[in-house]
Amino acid sequence: MINLIPSYTYNVEQLLTIITKRNNWLIKLRYLVFGALIVFIIFSKYIIRINYTTTQIIAIIIIAFSILIYNSLFTLITKSKLIKNTADSFNPLHFSLIQIIFDIVALSALTYYTGGVESPFSIFFVFHMILGSLILPSYVVYTIATLVVLFFFFASFLEYFNIVPHYSLDVIFTYSLYNNPNYIIVFGLTFAIMMFVSVLLTNSLARSLYTREQELKNALDELNKAELVKQKYIMAIVHEIKSPIAVVQSYLDLILQHYLGPVPSTIEEKLSRARVRTDEAIQIINDIINISKLKIQSEIKKENVNLFLLLKKIVDKRKSQCDYANISIKLYKIHNKEYIVQGDPQLLELAFSNLLSNAIKYNSSGGIIEVVVDDVARENFIMVEVCDNGIGIPDSEKEKIFTDFFRASNVKQKGYEGTGLGLSVVKQIVEHHNGEITFESPSRLADGKRRGTSFKIFLPINSE
Ligand code: ADP
Repeated sequence: MINLIPSYTYNVEQLLTIITKRNNWLIKLRYLVFGALIVFIIFSKYIIRINYTTTQIIAIIIIAFSILIYNSLFTLITKSKLIKNTADSFNPLHFSLIQIIFDIVALSALTYYTGGVESPFSIFFVFHMILGSLILPSYVVYTIATLVVLFFFFASFLEYFNIVPHYSLDVIFTYSLYNNPNYIIVFGLTFAIMMFVSVLLTNSLARSLYTREQELKNALDELNKAELVKQKYIMAIVHEIKSPIAVVQSYLDLILQHYLGPVPSTIEEKLSRARVRTDEAIQIINDIINISKLKIQSEIKKENVNLFLLLKKIVDKRKSQCDYANISIKLYKIHNKEYIVQGDPQLLELAFSNLLSNAIKYNSSGGIIEVVVDDVARENFIMVEVCDNGIGIPDSEKEKIFTDFFRASNVKQKGYEGTGLGLSVVKQIVEHHNGEITFESPSRLADGKRRGTSFKIFLPINSE
């Protein structure tokens, strides 16, 4: 099998995928050409009133139906497993070449039966040269162009010497040109120049565009690699910071639990505050590590996760915290069925825990939290809603809510502690699962005093 991969190709598989798309597009276009030919015959015969001979009509109809038949065959080939995406087997480039050859033969026949050198269809050869140059290596397209030009001169010669009959389109030219040698030479040369120049221009354009595209892709790859290194570096540093803080925390615990003897209450009060601060620092570190991990991971673990059971586990863990804060928490599903998604149970648990922890944190005594699972809100998606009637999110700050480190002004004013990273982690986890997260504030639990927020996570039922 001849190698048709252009020498400047960086990524063969990627190129062949692009060519497959172009081939499919060409096949669709060819069905249109068939329709256009039938319209052309009817239009030119009955509206322009070209006096076709019976042979011409039959020939054009045969050509149109041949195009339809071979195109149907091409359609079958695309659906079969005949075409492989490797350089040394029958690949999309070979398939393109076959298509171009068939098209050129059909176009040559059409040109011949519609006037030869006088035919307006001869211009369409240029299209094929442009298409071929976008796909095939230059030597193949130049060979095709040379064969077409030689055939063109040869056919004109046969017609000129009446070796083969001439078919004209009588209303376009009132006099014959096929037997005018000067016309044949001038037209033939112009045709040849047009063919070769179009190959030359398109080929060099396609080549430089392809090279530029590859350079951009490579630059993007480099950037992604650099981002990966950066994230790993951040993770390593943050991890290093975590250890001394954890040690400080354990010393503080020793003092606060009076293992080292009694502590005066004023000092104890200050140390307790320091202990809370170390908790916050560790929370920030954990959030940063989670974000970096998610950025590094291109693929996540995928297994069947029973969402309702997972949510039940998370809600149960938070029950005592809610009781302590006098907040009622309810989990329910709309239909009595299993809600299974494909995903990483640990990451999903982290995402829902973050939402629930916010729903509790940004609420107050007498508050309500509802966690609802449903699969009718959006087709092929399971929706989990975490809805509260807490302090809500101000309208003017809604846009920034998923930005790293962003915290709304109302939570800062009221002194709630936090890192502004939790929602960022949730969003990344949801996106890794091909899902979507939305929110609204006020929520459906809002009343005159409580604004409330509702977060909805949509996860595909089958993410493959
Ligand atoms: P953190 O809670 O640590 O500040 P998050 O990234 O989890 O960070 O949330 C970002 C901000 O979004 C919060 O600071 C808060 O302003 C707002 N927010 C998130 N969830 C809620 C909620 N349930 N009710 C009100 N505000 C919320």
